[in-house]
Amino acid sequence: MPSEAELSRLANQLFGEISQEPKPVDQHPMAFPASSEPTLTAAESLPFQLQPPGGWQPSFSASQLTAPQLGPIQPLDAYQIRKDFPILDQQIHGRPLIWLDNGATTQKPEAVIERLNHFYRSENSNIHRGAHELAARATDAYEGARATVAKFLGASSSEEIVFVRGTTEAINLVAQAWGRRELQTGDEIVITHLEHHANIVPWQILCQQTGAVLKVAPVDDYGQVLLESYERLFTARTKLTAFTQVSNALGTITPAQEMVQIAHRHGSRVLVDGAQGVAHEQVNMQSLDADWYVFSGHKIYGPTGIGVLYGKRELLQAMGPWQGGGNMISDVTFERTIYQEPPNRFEAGTGNIADAIGLGTALEYVSNLGLRNIAAAEQELLSYATEGLCCIPGLRLLGQPKEKAGVLSFVLEGFRSEDVGSALNQLGIAVRAGHHCAQPILRRFGVETSVRATLAIYNTKEDVDALVAGLLRLTHGSPRKRP
Ligand code: PMP
Repeated sequence: MPSEAELSRLANQLFGEISQEPKPVDQHPMAFPASSEPTLTAAESLPFQLQPPGGWQPSFSASQLTAPQLGPIQPLDAYQIRKDFPILDQQIHGRPLIWLDNGATTQKPEAVIERLNHFYRSENSNIHRGAHELAARATDAYEGARATVAKFLGASSSEEIVFVRGTTEAINLVAQAWGRRELQTGDEIVITHLEHHANIVPWQILCQQTGAVLKVAPVDDYGQVLLESYERLFTARTKLTAFTQVSNALGTITPAQEMVQIAHRHGSRVLVDGAQGVAHEQVNMQSLDADWYVFSGHKIYGPTGIGVLYGKRELLQAMGPWQGGGNMISDVTFERTIYQEPPNRFEAGTGNIADAIGLGTALEYVSNLGLRNIAAAEQELLSYATEGLCCIPGLRLLGQPKEKAGVLSFVLEGFRSEDVGSALNQLGIAVRAGHHCAQPILRRFGVETSVRATLAIYNTKEDVDALVAGLLRLTHGSPRKRP
């Protein structure tokens, strides 16, 4: 971590001389609403000591992780990795692009871009139906991608992998194809306070349709799920539990395996939202034991418009169809239709063939880097960035869970989140400012919006330094004393 003097010098070097004149403070009411909720500052109230970057150890134990990556953790070179991402090699507003909006979507490596290019240049055909060479090539590539996903997730077979548009569609699929059949008036669905709207609204719709009741597990002042309160929510009527593996708004890594076990102990089915988790932690369906696991390709260096629903085989087999149409049937008369077995039963119509194949390539790309190596590098950068942000006067980090992925969500006293986002954009730095489709958890922390910087494999310490320097420039302040 650079010293305070170095930070100031860096800010000046990067973005010009910082005026010593204090800036008039914009008293936007959303910035710090009066709230009885806790007001954690970044460093004062940590439940644990920040590890200096050099002394960092992974926060998970190797036994929690099952293959494919075995052996010691290897350091990754973010400077080398970023060369694989052509989009990063450009200037925005006259400065090098710094992409810290990875929670919204990740950039794509050359290998994925090339794979899509190759598909459209030499393989493009509809799959399954055609009796010609290109149909065979496209089908092989598509089914090959399904096998890659199955292996990546540690699924029992490719039949447990359904291609969908993304996390949102996968959750809606389970709500409608499973929940609508299984839930009755008075049944209960348990979620947590951390959820993205995509893991709230489909269940609310299902509750309206069936008369089921939505129950919400609370979080503590650090943004961690209160496990005892979570367990107390379960009754004999709890049919379904749905929670996120990683919170997109705070970065909390939930104790997913334990939460699945608790839900199962109470006879509930469990869906885990892996949208933010899948690129940051190695997952294995056998050890996680979730009934469904869902994620979006675009958050793991794959294309947009493609995602995955993993479901346990017997569960998918027992589920009715999602949408009706071609591909999902084995026989149709005007009187009745016989449906295909999973996964085809849930893939009506022509799917996103090219992007499914591109997703397969993205998963191969991250597997080659090693998910444990990725997690280790991210944790180190997260520590570095957390220390850096602690130096910004008036900055309040939202959520300081003990287990945290590379999400830095904060508000800056006297500034609206949108204005911070715009100011950073002028410096070529892309962050997200808004409610992050997770309004309930932001409100739990007393804010309507936050600024969110999210880390990925190509982010470097220089990216973090630029963010810190940009924020210092905005506040026109000298760095706050570090604890
Ligand atoms: N869940 C979480 C935790 C997310 O972060 C997101 C995307 N921000 C989603 C669900 C929805 O993903 P998508 O928009 O790709 O369907």
